[in-house]
Amino acid sequence: MNRTSKWKKENPERVKQNRKEWCDKNRDKVHEHKCSIGCQHCGYNKYGGALEWHHPDSNKDYVFRTAGYFGPKAQAEIAKCILLCANCHREEHMKMKTRPDLDDLYHDSK
Ligand SMILES: [Zn+2]
Repeated sequence: MNRTSKWKKENPERVKQNRKEWCDKNRDKVHEHKCSIGCQHCGYNKYGGALEWHHPDSNKDYVFRTAGYFGPKAQAEIAKCILLCANCHREEHMKMKTRPDLDDLYHDSK
């Protein structure tokens, strides 16, 4: 057993804590990145957790996970997407499925 895995075995709480800290930090970075772009429909950029990547062509090859967000697979996927806030994202999906008339909403409100 090498020193790192020995340490991990002897300090399970620290391992858990470190992993949590890493996840929190990474999530903050993801949120920051999303806020720097903002919703492509309405401009919302207050909270990254409410911003989601939308696949305009439904061609989803990769499911985003916070841990892999800055990896090459996720970045390639992001290149195919537009960033929308949760509200616009839901509207967009409803429009794609059932309500093409909702397109007027965007034009009327401008
Ligand atoms: Zn929006």
